[in-house]
Parts: sequence; structure tokens; C-alpha cells
Amino acid sequence: MALRFKNSLTRVKEEFKSIEPGKVRMYTCGPTVYDFAHIGNFRTYMFEDLLRRYLKYKGYQVTQVMNLTDVDDKTIRDSQAAGITLKEHTDPLKKAFFEDLDALGIERAEYYPAATDHIPEMVAIIKKLLDNGLAYEIDGHYYFRISAFPAYGKLANLDLTGLKAGARVAADEYEKDSVSDFALWKAWDGADGDVYWETDLGKGRPGWHIECSAMSMKYLGNHFDIHCGGVDNMFPHHENEIAQSEGATGEKFVDYWLHSEWLIVESRKMSKSLGNYYTLRDVLDKGYSVAAVRYLLLATHYRQQLNFTFDGLKAARAALERYNDFIANLTDYTGSESGGKAQQIIEKATDGFEGSLDDDLNISGALGAVFDFIRDINRLKAGEQLTSAERDEALKTIRSFDSVLNFAQKTETIDSRIEALIQQRQDARKAKDFALADKIRADLLAEGIVLEDSPQGVRWKRKV
Ligand code: AMP
Ligand code: ZN
Repeated sequence: MALRFKNSLTRVKEEFKSIEPGKVRMYTCGPTVYDFAHIGNFRTYMFEDLLRRYLKYKGYQVTQVMNLTDVDDKTIRDSQAAGITLKEHTDPLKKAFFEDLDALGIERAEYYPAATDHIPEMVAIIKKLLDNGLAYEIDGHYYFRISAFPAYGKLANLDLTGLKAGARVAADEYEKDSVSDFALWKAWDGADGDVYWETDLGKGRPGWHIECSAMSMKYLGNHFDIHCGGVDNMFPHHENEIAQSEGATGEKFVDYWLHSEWLIVESRKMSKSLGNYYTLRDVLDKGYSVAAVRYLLLATHYRQQLNFTFDGLKAARAALERYNDFIANLTDYTGSESGGKAQQIIEKATDGFEGSLDDDLNISGALGAVFDFIRDINRLKAGEQLTSAERDEALKTIRSFDSVLNFAQKTETIDSRIEALIQQRQDARKAKDFALADKIRADLLAEGIVLEDSPQGVRWKRKV
């Protein structure tokens, strides 16, 4: 089956066709580095990781850009409140963001451009819009004239009939009922302190929306394949990006728009302003693993709201344990004399996995196929119906699924201290000092290392 995505622009599922055969260029709106990201933000980045990994699984070469918004109303407000420069405020937050991405097993994009490094590109687009009659200046502020761009509103499906001509909005974020000419460039008026650039447009700083038009087109070209973000980005941010980019170039900007739904807590969006948020560190401090968080964030379809609960994390932990135990036990399995049934199971699982993800990234269907596969192969193993060659094929299959899911525990080089402790425990058991052996086991468990005894010896794994 062909890969299909629900396109927010057309509101229907469409077959995916890339502009250049075999290559995908995609832009994913990144964090505003005014504070630590919360796990609601990571829900969006996790969906984008699934998209990226599945496109690669399908054989595409992916070029992904994720911007870092390091100048806007919020970053300036918070750096001023902290009494430090904008850069002093945003640099440590950028670093923390990458640490969290890596911890969650989110694959790195090809480019992470920062807004403050792309001011000349933004100025160039604004000048183009002025030339094209789509922008105007008032007291050093520059606005986009939406009445001059008839396609305005097509993404967010806006009804512009009651629009007040000449109404303007200067804030970066605003609601649908204040649709109006929006700020491309804000003149410096003292309130922004030392945050300004001297440019052909005068002294000032860019609006938020122009950042993404400039950085996407710089790295991906005027017309590219996919643009993603959370649903809140659809209006005004993405609507404005289309207006700025298409207004400047006269070309189509993006073919497929994909938006992920909220992560919610007790029916409300997880957000800084409501105070109902957890950062990744908050969740880890409660004793959950990053792997469980990854599983939870990934396992709900991106266009459905994900209700965050600690019970959900516990269920994720149990599913991951099953998944990783399967891989470990299968790796250790020597293979039986008779077989012949595995091929069919592998084909069914592969069809189920790919068929589901091809259908607008239906992750529930894909995970269903994976866990059916685990159950079916375990049955063959228990019935001595899996040869060593079939075992290898089954392992290859799960590894290929794992290139998309990234749930498998990484084989780690065992720390020599842990190794020594395991040996000490073995010695204690031989000497029938079970109290010492139990204590070593409990100490390791407290560090998150689980020991499993089997006839082949002791195996250790990290607690998920
Ligand atoms: P921000 O840092 O607020 O600009 O948000 C960065 C990204 O996280 C955007 O794509 C938002 O749509 C997304 N986001 C923010 N809160 C949530 C949430 N509760 N659930 C899902 N995505 C979110
Ligand atoms: Zn953006």
C-alpha cells in the first residue's frame, strides 16, 4: 500500500509523493527557548521522530530542519526578568533541549538553525514582500497586508468576510478572532533593551512568524514536501508562514501539512501557562525511565489527544519489558530441529506494521502487529518449532521494526564496577553466603540494574 498522510491543508488523506524521487525535505517547528521544554512539547517532537524514522524505513533520504526560536516576545520577557542577556538566557535552554532529545531517543535533524543567526534572510523576505505590495511600514514597524493575499486563511479555514481592513496585531501569538495584519518586523522602542539589529528596515527585531519562512526556505528551498507542528501552530503561525513565503516567492510553499494534537492532563492542554506541566526531569525524578516516556508519547496516534497519566507510564513500562525480554530471550535461543511456520508470521507482522504506518502513521495498528508477532514467535519457541535460521529472521524483523520504534535497550558495554559486583555475588552464592548475594542484587536494583539467573548464567538488564 502506498504511504498516505492526512493533509491539514486539504483536510483529506492523500497519497504521499515527494517532489524529488527518493528524497523528502521537511520542516518541523522547534522550541521557543524561553524555558525548559515540557513533555507536551515532546509529544510533538516524538511524532516528528516517528514520521522521520518511518520515511527512512520506506527508503527516503530525509532532510529535516528544526528551528530554535531564540528571539521573540517570550524569550525577551524572561531574559529581562532574570536580569541577563538574551543569549545568556537561551544558551543553557538550547543545551537542555538537546540533552532531552537524545535521552528520548529522538533522532537528530540535519539542521537546527537559530533565529538570531538568520536576521539578514528575514530582512530579505520582508523587502521582497514590500516590493510585491504585500507589506507596509508604520513608524518603523512592518506588517503583512493580508487583504492583498487572497489565499490567506486556506490552512486554518478562516472566514474573512467580517475582517476589519487595516486592523493590526503586533503580538507574536493571537487568537482567530483577532485575524489581522501581522507584524513582520518590530521597531525598537526601548522596551526590548539591548535586543535589536540595525538593518535596512531600521533598528528592531523580527516577528516570530518570519523566522520560520526564512529558515525553512534557506535550507529546504522555496517549495518543499512536509511541514509539521502542534495544532496550535496552524493559526496564526503556519497560516502566516504560507502568506509570507508564497507572497515573497510566488511559488507553492509546502505540499503536506501535518499537525499533532495536544498532550492533555485531566482534559486540559499541558502548558506552562496553566501550570499543569511536567518536564522530562520531573517524570524521571518520579522513578520512570526515558524509555517509558518515549513509549507513552509515541503510542497514541498523532491526530488524537494523548491523555497523560502515571498509569499510562506504568503500562508503557510493562509493554517495553515484554518487547525487550522478547529480544533478549530470542537472542539466547539456540533453535529447534523442526520449523516451517515462522515465515508466515513474519510476513503477516511486516504487512500489519507497514500497512498501519502507511495509513497516516497509525501507530496503534503497527504496535498491535508487533505484539502479535512477539506472541506468535514466543509460541513457536515454546513448542520447539523455530529453527536457528528462523530465529535469525525473526530477530532481523524486530530490529527492522525497531529502526522506527527505537524501543530496544541499547547493548551497553558493562561497567567494570557492575561486572565486579556480579562476580562478587556469584562467589557469595558459591560460598552459600546468600545474605551477601541478596544484598548485592538489591544494591544493583537500586541503581536500576536487574539480574536474571538462568542455566546459562547471570544476565543483567536495565530496569525500564
Ligand atoms: P512552544 O515552545 O510553545 O513554541 O512549543 C513548541 C512545540 O510544542 C509546538 O509545536 C507546540 O505545538 C508544541 N506543544 C506545546 N504544548 C503542547 C502540548 N500540550 N501537546 C502537544 N504539543 C504541544
Ligand atoms: Zn515555526
